[in-house]
Amino acid sequence: MIRSPEELDGRTVDDIADVVIVGSGAAGATAARVLAEAGLEVVVLEEGPAVPAAELRPDFHSGQARVWRDGGAQVARGRALMPLLQGVCVGGSTAINGAIIHRIPETILGGWLKADPGLAVTVDPERLGEIWDRMDEELGVGPAPPDVLGENNRLLGVGARALGVDAAPIRRNVIGCEGSARCLQGCPTARRQSMNISYIPRAVAHGARVYTCAWAQRVTLGRGRATGVVARLHRGHRGQWCGRLRVRARRAVLIAASAVHTPLLLLRSGLGRTSGLVGRRFQAHPGTAVLGVFDDPVRMWAGATQGYESLHWWDERMKIETLALPPELGAVRLPALGAPLIRRLAEYGHVAQWAVQVRALAMGSVVHGLGGRAVVRYDLTPADVRVLKLGVLRLCELLFAAGAREVLPGVHGLPPSVRSMDELAPLGELPDSPQLFHCIASHMFGTAVMASAPKMGVTSPTGELWDCPGAYVIDSSVFPSNLGVNPQHAIAGLAWRLAERLVEEAAG
Ligand SMILES: Cc1cc2nc3c(=O)[nH]c(=O)nc-3n(C[C@H](O)[C@H](O)[C@H](O)COP(=O)(O)OP(=O)(O)OC[C@H]3O[C@@H](n4cnc5c(N)ncnc54)[C@H](O)[C@@H]3O)c2cc1C
Ligand code: SF4
Repeated sequence: MIRSPEELDGRTVDDIADVVIVGSGAAGATAARVLAEAGLEVVVLEEGPAVPAAELRPDFHSGQARVWRDGGAQVARGRALMPLLQGVCVGGSTAINGAIIHRIPETILGGWLKADPGLAVTVDPERLGEIWDRMDEELGVGPAPPDVLGENNRLLGVGARALGVDAAPIRRNVIGCEGSARCLQGCPTARRQSMNISYIPRAVAHGARVYTCAWAQRVTLGRGRATGVVARLHRGHRGQWCGRLRVRARRAVLIAASAVHTPLLLLRSGLGRTSGLVGRRFQAHPGTAVLGVFDDPVRMWAGATQGYESLHWWDERMKIETLALPPELGAVRLPALGAPLIRRLAEYGHVAQWAVQVRALAMGSVVHGLGGRAVVRYDLTPADVRVLKLGVLRLCELLFAAGAREVLPGVHGLPPSVRSMDELAPLGELPDSPQLFHCIASHMFGTAVMASAPKMGVTSPTGELWDCPGAYVIDSSVFPSNLGVNPQHAIAGLAWRLAERLVEEAAG
């Protein structure tokens, strides 16, 4: 059952379940699916609304207004501002993401276990592999088929082959993709198996109750353990409050509000403070894009939003992928004003856009701002900036190799448009400053890290808070590091593993 605040009619509502889960994204929905199917009574609290596919519109603005956190304006502050993109709706960020699927790379998993062998209790590569196999099957994971690639994706293959660079169609969680390039606005035909389409309905079919527009304010405590969650109900946006919800948890409270909003809930509740690490060690994969202009039409609006990628330089902390954007968003990167801008817009159908994301070394912090908003401090290190510089050069080279007649590197201090790699030579002379780039980040980690000793982490390897039995963090807040690959499957897989541990415990 999915319950909206209108149904609850401005009242204070009381409910009780075995497990209360905060957040319905990759982590929360997966845990709900595992726990509800195992026969536990589950309540999910989701801050955002449930938006049916039929109500999703092609323009970017309406999607941002309805299902993006802060309308897309949540930022990390450092020497440069960096938008931190997240969803706020049933399905969380999975409802607006590029459908790219990866598992946790072996070297990353190995690194975690080497640094803290005690994590093996849950971070068990063999069991995680089985879980990911199962999820692949349930979520229709497979490479983007040639008939929905479109030119933006196909051309990356052309450029990569010309340069001898490894690249391939992306493995995606989509069944019957129509190649409408609208993944970031929300899939209008419900083909992407995001959590609002897959695991939330599955959990509901097994009895889970989902409260939408329910902002978890704090975790309640009794006799030294978590006893439930108090939430405020709103009419579409936080601030338009219209009721309250108190849910008592017989067994556990699972926090899956994302690596930005989980630490805020912990801080509001006075939890996880023993290690001093709540909201610290924030990590991300900042990314920036380069545009190429081709003689032949590219038509970014036809094809999978993100359909081709290269992990060729993964060891150098970079990953390259295609990223189609509609003109109203892509236009901000066109280097022109007035009549020249109109001419640039007229040739938008000939533009391809590819991006590089960096497994950044930088660490930041998340604290509470006004109105429950996050204040994120984050600054790329000089080494991270050098990786970005190299990534931009490689994107330019790939675009030229694919036949671009002109490349728009989008780097302050470089010509806005170049026709040869030689014109990019000054990049090496520019300072290693994050202000050179237009970066965004949509993959976040590490703000309530897990560890096998209380001084080293906020939670134990099972996700349970060291200082509050019965309260668990199950999203990428617990990840000891970033991954270098798109994280939704990693997050869902670990959440599954943590949830099944709870089931085992419940069974005695
Ligand atoms: C534009 C975009 C594109 C992306 N593309 C990809 C991709 O192609 N592949 C990939 O692997 N990853 C991608 N990601 C990242 C991926 O979607 C996220 O890493 C993943 O969904 C995070 O899972 P999560 O459960 O931690 O958080 P989320 O999925 O963000 O879910 C958290 C949920 O908690 C809710 N919440 C927060 N605070 C509260 C509160 N106090 N009370 C109640 N509810 C609350 C939020 O509203 C949200 O619904 C993308 C992300 C974005 C934004
Ligand atoms: S490309 Fe279109 S049909 Fe395919 S998953 Fe994305 S939004 Fe859905």
